[in-house]
Amino acid sequence: MGGTRIFRPNFEKLERGATTKTIVIAGGAGFIGSNLSHRLIAEGNRVICIDNMETGRNENIAGLLTHPNFDFFLHDILEPIQIDGPVDRIYNMACPGSPPKYQRDPIHTFKTSVLGGMNLLELAEEKGARILQSSTSEVYGDPDVSPQKESYRGSVNTVGPRSCYDEGKRGAETLFYEMHERRGVDTRIARIFNTYGPRMDPEDGRVVSNFVMQALMGEDLTIYGDGAQTRSFCYISDLLKGLITLMEGEDPLGTISSPVNLGNPGEFTILELAETVLNMTGSKSKLVYRDLPVDDPHQRCPDISRAKSILGWEPQVPLKEGLIPTIAYFKGELSGRQTYAARSVA
Ligand code: UDP
Repeated sequence: MGGTRIFRPNFEKLERGATTKTIVIAGGAGFIGSNLSHRLIAEGNRVICIDNMETGRNENIAGLLTHPNFDFFLHDILEPIQIDGPVDRIYNMACPGSPPKYQRDPIHTFKTSVLGGMNLLELAEEKGARILQSSTSEVYGDPDVSPQKESYRGSVNTVGPRSCYDEGKRGAETLFYEMHERRGVDTRIARIFNTYGPRMDPEDGRVVSNFVMQALMGEDLTIYGDGAQTRSFCYISDLLKGLITLMEGEDPLGTISSPVNLGNPGEFTILELAETVLNMTGSKSKLVYRDLPVDDPHQRCPDISRAKSILGWEPQVPLKEGLIPTIAYFKGELSGRQTYAARSVA
């Protein structure tokens, strides 16, 4: 008989302070999840990071592994999750977010959002923990209104290359809603728009990591389509603040469980982003044009009036400011790689 593995956090060295929470972060080694792990540890919490390391990276959590408040559980959330001891909060950040990554195994991607989401909801129910779902602007598909408000129902293809991600995230929202309505689980849903910053995977295949890495390596910047499509880019520190405020916010009006857009309303064409990256890196790279992927949304811009009114949150970091540490981070990744390459040759 197989049986479910029970994770027993190794926190006994710690005093459990009055404000300390035990927080599970599923996908805690990914880009957003690992930044959240670092932030919540720095704020004095205990973090249990669950990751199957499909797109999570060792480098993202290496500095935390010896921290007494941090524990790592190598586990796929598709399998039932059993954890010993109390859990106060659960952040579900577990799903590949980059189109080339989530399209590699679309069935697993879909199951991760829906079945993985259900396993985490059941953990939340068992522990009496509050749980936040990282949903996405992709629930709006290729929108025919802009900016997108939470009340917009979206324009999503159920059978295309992006459907496994978009429909998985939509299905997860439904599960969170029903588990709140019917079983009283304390749920939050953040619809996260394009986010960038340190700890992104240089090989992620998304536009910011591609353009910055290409510019730094002197390679052509790959523009998909004519580059007139838009995205709105939120710097990671702004997003973390939004996520934590949504998780910790009180709910006097009983509406906080409904989805909340978190993103930066500053909207740019992909060509504008390419030019900004070239200017800021001083790169002489050229632009090359490639086919626009199927179902690639033409525009994306969050309406954040709900986040402003219920959370008092709005982003502080404009694109050109957030790109400075992001470019510095990718430079560091590149020089680490060169050192490694040089070492392996030697
Ligand atoms: N894109 C691009 N070149 C690249 C990577 C992406 O022009 O090297 C475009 C992509 O077609 C999309 C936008 O940039 O229109 C954002 O893509 P990304 O994969 O970052 O995220 P998405 O918002 O599409 O999930």
